[in-house]
Amino acid sequence: MATTAKNEKYVYSFGGGKADGNESMKNLLGGKGANLAEMAGHKDLKLPVPPGFTITTEVCTYFYDNKRQYPSTLEKQIKDALAQVEKLMGKKFGDVKNPLLMSVRSGARKSMPGMMDTVLNIGLNDETIQGLIAESGDERFAYDAYRRLVMMYADVVIEKAGGMEPAKGIGIRKIMDERLEEVKKEKGVELDTDLSADDLKKLVKEFKALTKKHLKQDFPETPWDQLMGGVGAVFASWNGKRAIEYRRIENIPDEWGTAVNVQAMVFGNMGNDSCTGVAFTRNPGNGENKFYGEYLVNAQGEDVVAGIRTPAPINQYSKNDHSKNLTTLEKFMPEQYKELDEIQQRLEKHYKDMQDIEFTIEKGKLYMLQCRVGKRNGVSAVKMAADMYKEGMIDAETAILRVNPNQLVELLLPMFDPDIEKTHKVIAKGLPAGPGGAVGRVVFSSEDAVEWASKGKKVILVREETSPEDVDGMHKSEAILTTKGGMTSHAALVARGWGKCCIVGCSEISIHDKEKYFVTKDGKKIKEGDWVSLNGSKGTVYEGSLPLIDVDLNKNQSYKQLMTLVDKYKTMGVRTNADTPKDVEQATYFGAEGVGLFRTEHMFYGEGSDKPLFLLRKMIMSDTEQERKSALNELFTFVKRDIKATLEVMKGNPVTIRLLDPPLHEFVPHDKAKLQELSKELGVSMSILNRRILALHENNPMLGHRGVRLGVSYPEITEMQVRAIFEAAAELQKEGVKAFPEIMIPVTCGRHELSHQKAIVDKVYDETLEKLGVKKIPYMYGTMIEIPRAALKADSMAMVADFFSFGTNDLTQMSFGFSRDDIGGFLPKYLDLKLLPGDPFVSIDQSGVGELIKIGVERGRKTKPNLKVGICGEHGGDAESVKFCHSIGMNYVSCSPFRVPIARLAAAQAAIEDKKYVKTS
Ligand code: PEP
Ligand code: MG
Repeated sequence: MATTAKNEKYVYSFGGGKADGNESMKNLLGGKGANLAEMAGHKDLKLPVPPGFTITTEVCTYFYDNKRQYPSTLEKQIKDALAQVEKLMGKKFGDVKNPLLMSVRSGARKSMPGMMDTVLNIGLNDETIQGLIAESGDERFAYDAYRRLVMMYADVVIEKAGGMEPAKGIGIRKIMDERLEEVKKEKGVELDTDLSADDLKKLVKEFKALTKKHLKQDFPETPWDQLMGGVGAVFASWNGKRAIEYRRIENIPDEWGTAVNVQAMVFGNMGNDSCTGVAFTRNPGNGENKFYGEYLVNAQGEDVVAGIRTPAPINQYSKNDHSKNLTTLEKFMPEQYKELDEIQQRLEKHYKDMQDIEFTIEKGKLYMLQCRVGKRNGVSAVKMAADMYKEGMIDAETAILRVNPNQLVELLLPMFDPDIEKTHKVIAKGLPAGPGGAVGRVVFSSEDAVEWASKGKKVILVREETSPEDVDGMHKSEAILTTKGGMTSHAALVARGWGKCCIVGCSEISIHDKEKYFVTKDGKKIKEGDWVSLNGSKGTVYEGSLPLIDVDLNKNQSYKQLMTLVDKYKTMGVRTNADTPKDVEQATYFGAEGVGLFRTEHMFYGEGSDKPLFLLRKMIMSDTEQERKSALNELFTFVKRDIKATLEVMKGNPVTIRLLDPPLHEFVPHDKAKLQELSKELGVSMSILNRRILALHENNPMLGHRGVRLGVSYPEITEMQVRAIFEAAAELQKEGVKAFPEIMIPVTCGRHELSHQKAIVDKVYDETLEKLGVKKIPYMYGTMIEIPRAALKADSMAMVADFFSFGTNDLTQMSFGFSRDDIGGFLPKYLDLKLLPGDPFVSIDQSGVGELIKIGVERGRKTKPNLKVGICGEHGGDAESVKFCHSIGMNYVSCSPFRVPIARLAAAQAAIEDKKYVKTS
């Protein structure tokens, strides 16, 4: 052991109504350890927690910094803590007569369900087992515990933590599992529980021999060695493949490390007066304020989460189609249920949030094993926040901070059209573990899910049950369907955390994963690659692909209540990027307060664009100003019509209209018929037309003749658009409809371009006033900042511009020099190697691109203190980026219609966090 300061505290005890730590010490004790301390020691709780101790996350960091050694004082501290547990339990670790058994579990700051390792029943050996038999009076139980220990120890401590690569990928656990199955076959029994004490005794011997044979090590008989082996394995599992993968997906920093919780064992499998269960203080599936949970008689905790046996409901409310005939805990053990119910109420009141709890009843005595803030899907997160606010349990600020903005997407999740769904036959039914509808092709392994998804295919992962090894495939799938397990199984837990559509316990289908198909109870065979549709809110499975439709948010009262609070707190405006009246209406419904980006060119794509596109092409292919002006004149009508329609729906709220941006060659037709039509219209030969097209070719179109450069080369293009904007606004004004256009010049890099275009705007403005006989047309003139130089020259740009809108798509592209359209070729490698913390096109690269934005805002406002500043790149709908925009004083963010609620919530959270920071600093 390496040396460390003598007074450093590495071990925190809990139990017997006392605890060294508390809930606020999550960074040091991990989530599990901090909550165990709180439950055991807080004056309002003092719950029946089996005593134990937590080894801090600092030891994990130390372990990795010091070639897997421990601080020198650790051993003594563990021994002292262990002695305290012995005292409280009235048993001794390693005692032959009355042995104390311990569990060793991981516990990071943030819960990582099933990602790290656990070893149970530590302290058993050929001698202490006699004590356990005597004490429990159940030889079968004792040997079952022993064989589990040997198995877990060989797997977790010797093989995994020892870094051994199993031959042919078949690990020791699998070898032992197979042996267990063989023994069951030999004995003609189906369940593990049907094996006799003698069978299990023999298995213990065999498992030890298998350990020696395959792993070349002996199972340690000394309890202390077992304990320290377990502790080391938990630390090692922090850097296991599964844990690393999960951290990458969940953005958990590698430096955090895990704590280790060592706790006295209590047994839910000590006979039919014992059980174990998992429960939630509110229903995590829909948010209802009802105690909800499942339990298994004569089982260990792992059995509930693994989803191997169908768990029974704890109460009437928790019943589902699969468990409706099973006895509830409330009926089975009324007294203990009452105690548990009373505890769960106290826990929720204490933590002021929904708790996920694990309990065990050993021979009629209730123990609380764990409590933590329960994971919930978006729908329930919103309902719980709104309800708890109404109940007076939390204040408005807490309610707003409770919902992760990204979870709001789930409330907008598409669903099947109920009328269409009704006409489809349900081919299988399971438990609705993750809401929303999903459509995809069936795959049967996590690897296939990853591979298919990488080719752009939508997949549904179908498995008997999932394990932590499957997380990557689960993440890449549209939805998950399992045949085993309940609402608290691994699949349900993980899917709920991600807000993914998920159906579990669908026992009506039988999976043939080697042959890659499943069969429904009606005998229908669904093969790999076949399409299926899942309704995760109802638990129903359909063959084929059902069309998905959007949900009516206004029917969700909790959402409405929460968003009313949100609007009271946010200080930034939220606008939308929309180019059609339909999109604008959709965004307004989601709460947009204006249009932050109307991309003019989009009127030349999609429905009804044939005629304007033809005219635009005619304009592009024109050779002289005269020809171009005549084409523009024809085009004018269409541009004005579309702009007017959008201004009209916004009823006086600002609409930022960006002038034509893309390189012209993007609009050149490729098919022969269209080219011929154009040559006829222009009265030029095909070879002349082809020559003109060739002249438009550019090597780097993104850095070429686009944005303001078009308006500089062809001022008549700017003129036509500006005229369309002013006339549309003036006409609306005359019709009694308010309109407020903001003319935005794209891809600028300096003041002179802006002044050049402003002269055109001023001229057209005067002409329009005269032509339409109006006195004034309210409008603003501004620019996008999407070139690094523009950000640096913001002080002079602001002399001409009244507003800036940061085009962070291009700004990111040009700052990194990463082509935004080709990033897929290299970004995954960058992320894998951690050369970048994330995709900079998704969340603003705050330390690089963010600096440019800050400079732009500061310099711009130095020139014009009331300069209006917003963002209209895709980042405007990313919660982290929205918070960044708030922090640098932007006036608004703008994003696609479906991201508007996310941006609103993130903006409110930013305002609250800001206030809290000011208060405490
Ligand atoms: C941008 O560059 O951020 C932007 C909004 O413009 P576009 O995506 O149309 O280039
Ligand atoms: Mg751009």
